[in-house]
Amino acid sequence: MSFLQRYFSKVNERERSSAAIAHLAALDAIHEQDPEIAKSIVQELRDQRSRLKLIASENYSSLSVQLAMGNWMTDKYSEGSVGHRFYAGCGNVDRIEGEGMRLAQKIFGADHAYLQPHSGADANLVAFWSILVQKIENPAVERLGKKNLGELSAAEYEEVRKLLSSQRVMGLGLGSGGHLTHGYRYNISSKMMQSESYEVDERGFIDYAALAKQVREFRPLILIAGYSSYPRRIDFAKMREIADSVGAVLLVDMAHFAGLVAGGVFDGVYHPVPFADIVTTTTHKTLRGPRGGMILCKTPYRAAVDKGCPLVLGGPLPHVLAAKALALKEVDTGSFKQYAAQVVANAQALAEAFLRNGVKLSTGGTDNHLIVIDTASSFHLTGRQAETLLYDAHLTVNRNAIPRDPERPWITSGIRLGTPALTTLGMKEKEMAEIAAIITGLLREAKPGFEEGKPSPSKAEVDGVLLDKMRMRIRELLSHFPLYPELSID
Ligand SMILES: *Cc1c(COP(=O)(O)O)cnc(C)c1O
Repeated sequence: MSFLQRYFSKVNERERSSAAIAHLAALDAIHEQDPEIAKSIVQELRDQRSRLKLIASENYSSLSVQLAMGNWMTDKYSEGSVGHRFYAGCGNVDRIEGEGMRLAQKIFGADHAYLQPHSGADANLVAFWSILVQKIENPAVERLGKKNLGELSAAEYEEVRKLLSSQRVMGLGLGSGGHLTHGYRYNISSKMMQSESYEVDERGFIDYAALAKQVREFRPLILIAGYSSYPRRIDFAKMREIADSVGAVLLVDMAHFAGLVAGGVFDGVYHPVPFADIVTTTTHKTLRGPRGGMILCKTPYRAAVDKGCPLVLGGPLPHVLAAKALALKEVDTGSFKQYAAQVVANAQALAEAFLRNGVKLSTGGTDNHLIVIDTASSFHLTGRQAETLLYDAHLTVNRNAIPRDPERPWITSGIRLGTPALTTLGMKEKEMAEIAAIITGLLREAKPGFEEGKPSPSKAEVDGVLLDKMRMRIRELLSHFPLYPELSID
């Protein structure tokens, strides 16, 4: 029996949503082509429904946003920017991308928005190279008395290219909560520019005075502010001042907290757009849209950013542009403001519940959507051991370095927990207290697992009865907050 036939009758008339019906029909169409692929897609829904999603970088997008990606818009090439395409027939892409840009500019108060980056990493690469073009390449071409790159001789172009590759970038270190695209050795960002990281202090906070001193010594062209696992806000007015002290460009990567900015939780000096030259983001984390990237910039960078293709990218993903525009429409509503405020209220409730249980948190708390637990000090467990055990108990979290972590990045001494996804399900402070109690109850009783007769840094065990009891509590909790309740697949 088809998905549509099997599940359609289960929902009563009032609950039937066109998005849910479309998903069932789509699964039937996929199943006809390849049952195994359809099976994995359905299984992913079951897996996401049966676990508490505490991964700070994940969320649940709406069924409409998902559907906007699943159509023939994917078949169109539309290199270029709105109204200036390298292919004929881009009118519909123009309208979709134009609407997305308009919404992004309105929501974030930005001079300009660029929606084409395929991911957060791509957005950063486009931003880096736009800055290099604007600040280094264009002035060099002008000094040579030429109008554009095409007029340069091979020797002159080589001179410019060497100049581009001798610039400096500075971002928050990976072990301090930064992202690998911020100058990590194994990422292209540290290969195309000379990179030096700044680190958090022993309590886990960014030390602005120490950063100001380090910036004056290193003199980067680009100063990056932004993070993947820093549980505090960043003062962008201070960051601007520090960047200005050496004439650096301020790039803010708000991949993790864009939703908190859009929802009005981060304002004043915590809103990056008034202070940064360029702001990059993902669209799938707290912003709750499709998997993708986006750039906001001040007018002087607009021309360079809009040439993201051919600079870094090829053709845009028009189907994802449609989903981005739709997601931004959802963000531009009063209920998203409530959502963003609840994300932070939940993270703070989670932090307080852990602190009451004597658990040690990096920086001692949070003022955004995530917390970092020091599992080594609190439970004598590595981050990897805690992650594995919690996954076994049906909680999805990820291991994470704590400030000055003595463990290898593959093992770590902590875990990161975030509230964006569970808040989308409708959970509030009360549920956060229950989740903290479950996690503390498990980790407190955990013993390192053994591998080949030796304690394993990756495995931890608890009594089977306790594990079952905690799984039951999670099942009970999740039963009150169903994921996509209008979608009747079981
Ligand atoms: C997640 C993240 C990215 C990368 O996003 P992808 O879409 O995974 O490429 C970039 N910067 C920061 C700060 C992030 O947290």
